[in-house]
Amino acid sequence: MLTCRAVWKKLAPLARASSTVCRQNVRRAGWNNARTPLCVPVAHMSTGPVGGGGDNLKYALLVGAAFVSGITYAVITLKGDQKRHVERMTEISSRKQKSASQIQTEPPVTVMEAPLETILEAAAAPDAEAVAPSETAEPPPAADSKPSLPSHAPYLLIGGGTASFAAARSIRARDPGAKVLIVTDEPDLPYMRPPLSKELWFSDDPSVTETLRFKQWNGKERSIYFQPPSFYVDAEELSGAENGGVAVLTGRKVVHMDVRGNKVKLDDDMEISYDKCLIATGGVPRNLQVIERAGEEVIKRTTVFRKIDDFKSLDKVSRNTQSITIIGGGFLGSELACALGRRSTETGLEVIQMFPEKGNMGKVLPEYLSNWTTEKVKKEGVKVIREAVVKSVSFKDDKLEIKLKDGRVVRTDHIVAAVGLEPNVDLAKSAGLEVDSDFGGYRVNAELQARSNIWVAGDASCFYDIRLGRRRVEHHDHAVVSGRLAGENMTGANKPYWHQSMFWSDLGPDVGYEAIGIVDSSLPTVGVFAKATAKDTPKAATEESGRRAQCFNILDDPIFCFFFLLVCCIGFV
Ligand SMILES: Cc1cc2nc3c(=O)[nH]c(=O)nc-3n(C[C@H](O)[C@H](O)[C@H](O)COP(=O)(O)OP(=O)(O)OC[C@H]3O[C@@H](n4cnc5c(N)ncnc54)[C@H](O)[C@@H]3O)c2cc1C
Repeated sequence: MLTCRAVWKKLAPLARASSTVCRQNVRRAGWNNARTPLCVPVAHMSTGPVGGGGDNLKYALLVGAAFVSGITYAVITLKGDQKRHVERMTEISSRKQKSASQIQTEPPVTVMEAPLETILEAAAAPDAEAVAPSETAEPPPAADSKPSLPSHAPYLLIGGGTASFAAARSIRARDPGAKVLIVTDEPDLPYMRPPLSKELWFSDDPSVTETLRFKQWNGKERSIYFQPPSFYVDAEELSGAENGGVAVLTGRKVVHMDVRGNKVKLDDDMEISYDKCLIATGGVPRNLQVIERAGEEVIKRTTVFRKIDDFKSLDKVSRNTQSITIIGGGFLGSELACALGRRSTETGLEVIQMFPEKGNMGKVLPEYLSNWTTEKVKKEGVKVIREAVVKSVSFKDDKLEIKLKDGRVVRTDHIVAAVGLEPNVDLAKSAGLEVDSDFGGYRVNAELQARSNIWVAGDASCFYDIRLGRRRVEHHDHAVVSGRLAGENMTGANKPYWHQSMFWSDLGPDVGYEAIGIVDSSLPTVGVFAKATAKDTPKAATEESGRRAQCFNILDDPIFCFFFLLVCCIGFV
């Protein structure tokens, strides 16, 4: 973000150089006034040829002529200097109007005008000297001056999500003076997404959409932002930051990568070169084609959920409509259904959830656990419609009409499409990077490397897991683990992906589960149950050990079981 102070700091050396040049001109004018007309004749008078045999008249005429020409020279010089001074002032004050990049190219010209001592003097001069209006006649920069953003970043991270933030931290941990620049097209500093579909909905704070603070299950409150603004260095100060730091360019999108030239182009045409680059562009929520083709009225009553703004707008919708239908039975759809379902008991909002599977989380959980989960979701106030395949959506009589393939019709006010994620590989073409045809995402090796100085982490990375083979994972902890690994490798660690990330989901405050490895309902299942006690609530378990496991459902694939227990831990009360 642009601050006047920051811009002024950038411009101060330039201002000092310029103002010193001006002062130099003034001084020169002073010397000219004093020396040229006076010194020469005085010197002449004191050391010049004596005599002339008493030809005093001639001598007086000579001295008089010299005096007159001296005065004339002084006047001309003064006028010339004054004109140059005025021109210089005009030129300096017009600089404010120019862009920061233009300004950056100007100092050498200015510096060339000044002698070396002047440049050194300018560099050593305190800020106060440079800004003293009587000396420089240069006003402080206007608030709308553009910041001078770095044109080079030793570490450039594309995307401002979890993976990028984790990478920034590990880069700084291994290379403490590192200068890390994160470019994100979101308006926000890096934040975590999981609370957007969970804790934030259960907050008692009426201003939660503004504070974005939530209570964790252990009762402690925190913000969804990984760090407060004070953690970051201003982007325009990054290049000059003595100890480096992490800077974030918000609201800017990388639209082109020149891999051979080691540079990227942003959506405002700015170019940034890099030494090492991380792509952590996450993904874009999918929508149903039948919705995309259904016209404007349907689209404007449909939410695809991923960002802070989506949370804010769905919160608003849930307060102003009578019926919301969630399409999708996976993590996100089920979490949002429970969150909205809880609200339905308070406001009478109708919450419907529909999906093609037989039960909630049907692609992940074995059937009996999926059925059990569905009952829990219903208890949260959700009308669950199973085995529902959407055939068409239309807008009629002020309502959305969802027709299912089996003939059922659902009328609702708003749709939340929670039907998966498309990994964001927009840069693949310009960068010439490979996209995996099976899993999607940028194809990288076990070190998460796509090219010699390009790494990919998080949802957008299709990596080679040295234990489980080629995979792509869309989970928070994976974003942390892979971001951290990429950051380490960007600083020369050369480590392969081996640490298995976990994932979790919470369906309301009573149901939570954690898992590791490849968890898929098509794998054979072994269930190990322990009787739940009062201590086994998610909250109590978290407080005690940081985990929430009451019973274990072990999804055991014979091929992988030697290396991994594919564990899904289900908590219930
Ligand atoms: C609501 C919600 C709840 C979730 N809950 C859980 C959970 O309970 N448990 C779990 O394990 N996982 C959960 N996840 C998944 C988890 O949040 C993601 O796996 C994780 O955020 C992925 O991190 P990432 O850094 O790869 O991508 P992201 O967090 O998506 O970050 C990518 C960023 O890059 C930006 N970007 C993209 N392209 C460009 C570009 N060209 N230039 C600049 N910026 C760009 C995007 O706008 C975005 O800000 C949840 C996700 C959501 C949406």
